[in-house]
Parts: sequence; structure tokens; C-alpha cells
Amino acid sequence: MPSTEQNDIMEDLSSGRYGKYTVNAPLAHYAYWKIGGPADLLIEPQSIEQIQSLIRYLAQQGIPYVVIGDGCNMLFDDAGLRGVVVRIGRGMAELSIQGELIEAQGGVYVPWLARKSALAGLTGLEHTIGIPGTLGGLVLMNGGSLRKGIGDNVVEVEVVTPQGDRKVLSREECQFSYRHSALQGTGNIVVRTVLKCEKADKKTVRREMLDILRQRRRNFPLRLPNCGSVFLNDPDIYEAYGPPGKVVEDTGLKGLKIGDIQVSPLHANFMVNLGNGRSRDVLNLIRTVRERVFQRTGFWLTCEVRYIAPDGQMMQAHVAAGP
Ligand SMILES: Cc1cc2nc3c(=O)[nH]c(=O)nc-3n(C[C@H](O)[C@H](O)[C@H](O)COP(=O)(O)OP(=O)(O)OC[C@H]3O[C@@H](n4cnc5c(N)ncnc54)[C@H](O)[C@@H]3O)c2cc1C
Repeated sequence: MPSTEQNDIMEDLSSGRYGKYTVNAPLAHYAYWKIGGPADLLIEPQSIEQIQSLIRYLAQQGIPYVVIGDGCNMLFDDAGLRGVVVRIGRGMAELSIQGELIEAQGGVYVPWLARKSALAGLTGLEHTIGIPGTLGGLVLMNGGSLRKGIGDNVVEVEVVTPQGDRKVLSREECQFSYRHSALQGTGNIVVRTVLKCEKADKKTVRREMLDILRQRRRNFPLRLPNCGSVFLNDPDIYEAYGPPGKVVEDTGLKGLKIGDIQVSPLHANFMVNLGNGRSRDVLNLIRTVRERVFQRTGFWLTCEVRYIAPDGQMMQAHVAAGP
């Protein structure tokens, strides 16, 4: 944040007019990996209008900012962030269901959305029941499981643009593909999404969700802080060597540790924080795993996880890790 007008700007931003705020917000508290130093300011808008005016103000003042949801897929730096974190969370979590259509704000917690859809006798979102995080994050990442993505159900997405305007995008405009959407890298903030499901038997949907949760509990290390899958599934690598977890395991890296960050002994595409993990440990472990996998297979794994540099730049973690 520019030092000259810092006081005035901090006063404006922490007036409450843009939402709830925390000064010197400890980012480890806002990331599933439990890693990250303090951000100058973290603001949680409570309405679309607050998001619009906040984004306009930040752009006008040239203040670096980063948008997050629940921080499930985020690696913050040990040095924190010199700027503002805009958190789209439970203050933006309205949801309504009409027939086969679900309309939900960006901060809705995804497993809650899945449960609501089941209670309404709707099928289509079963695969999201165990995915932590917000709907906004899920839409941006086209997240999902069991070879599905949330994009399959999207009818339209409403965003706030980097200019602070509201815009509605059709599913086609979002260009969903595996863990990708055209929203990535645009600075658009997902504030509302309309999803289409199909009518189904409530009990069948519920049973399916419970099965999925059981499988996830068995296969994923859910007790220690982690950010889900670290590496993306790549079709070429998959064909030659299998999914990323298998590739890392077959390279003999299960259990490998740098500092307090470890390749999970349970599932090799997860990296768990054993207690005092640091961002540089994660980046070093990512680099080591990628190099060793490249030496064995000739392929470079790429990351799903996003790293946020202290100046607010966001990138896939393997880019920050090098080489
Ligand atoms: C234990 C565990 C298991 C997981 N399993 C899965 C899985 O099975 N499948 C899967 O796909 N993912 C999985 N993940 C990853 C993660 O849950 C998803 O990527 C999730 O959708 C991210 O949501 P979030 O709100 O936490 O987003 P964040 O991690 O906060 O942000 C992720 C990205 O989305 C952007 N973003 C967040 N909110 C918004 C918004 N409202 N508008 C615009 N951009 C936004 C951020 O800028 C960032 O680029 C898992 C994570 C964990 C910790």
C-alpha cells in the first residue's frame, strides 16, 4: 500500500462501509494449509453493492488486492500480503431453490449447497458433497470430483468486473473445461450462480452422497491441514503413468518431508502440514517432487494450488516454486 496516503486509505477501508474488516489479518487463519503471514487488511463484503464500491475504490487508489473464498486452494506467503484480501464468505451466502434451478451467492459453502440440493430432491451435485470451499471458488476452478466439474450444472454466472460493474455470463461464455474456466485471470468476482439439476429420489441422492463421503474419508488425509490435490491431472501423463498421486508414489516420494510439510503417506497428491509448515517448505517440496518426477518420466507436473506473493501477484504454485 502506498505509504504517503496510507492512513487516510486505511481509515476509509476500515470504516465498515465495505464490509467486515480485520487489520493485520493472519492469513494462516484463512487458508486450509494454515500457512501465511499477516495481510495489511482483510475485508469481507456483505453485499454485491459493497463488493462493487470496494473494487472501485481499490482500483482508483491502485491498491493491490486478492480475492479469496475459503482459502482451500491457496498458498499464502510466510511474509503475508502488502495489500487487501477481499474475502467472499458467509456474508454473501444466500441460496434459493425453485424447481430444478438453484440460485446461490458466491460465498455459499459447497457441502451445504450439496446437502440443500439433496433435501430438495435434486440430483447433479452429489460429486461436490466433500469439496470444501465456496461456490465462487468452485466455479472459478470448475472444481468437482469423479470426473465431473461444477460447470456441467451452470446456467449463468454473475460477476463483478475489475471496474466494479455487474455482468452476467452464460455457461458458454465461462468456457468450462477440466479445472479451468474463462473467469480465471480476468479479475472477475463471482457473486451469484444459477445451477440446473434434475429431479430425483431424495433417498438415492443422499445414499450416493454418503458413499462419496465415506470414500473420501478412506482415501484422503483429512485430519492434517492440506489444500486438496496439489498437482493437476494431465491427460498425457495420465495415459503414460496414471493420475498424479500414482506418479508421485511410483517415483518413491510418499512421505517425503521438507520442514513440516510432507507428501502424505496416505495419498501422494496431497501435501500435509505437520504443524509449523512454511510457504517456502511447500514451494521447495513442490519443486523437489516435480524435478524427481521429471527425471523419471520426462513430464513436468503442474499445480492446481495458487500461490499469492507478498505483492499480491497470484500464480500456480509450481511457477513460484521454479525451476
Ligand atoms: C481436503 C480438500 C479436498 C479437496 N477436494 C477437492 C476436489 O475433490 N475437487 C476439487 O475440484 N477441489 C478440491 N479441493 C480444492 C478446493 O476445495 C476447491 O478448489 C474449492 O473450490 C476452492 O474454493 P475456495 O472458496 O476455498 O477458493 P480459494 O481457495 O479461496 O480460491 C481459489 C481460487 O478461486 C478464486 N476465488 C475464490 N472465490 C472467488 C470468487 N467469489 N470469485 C472469483 N474468484 C474467486 C481465488 O482468487 C483463487 O484463484 C479440495 C481442497 C481440500 C482442502
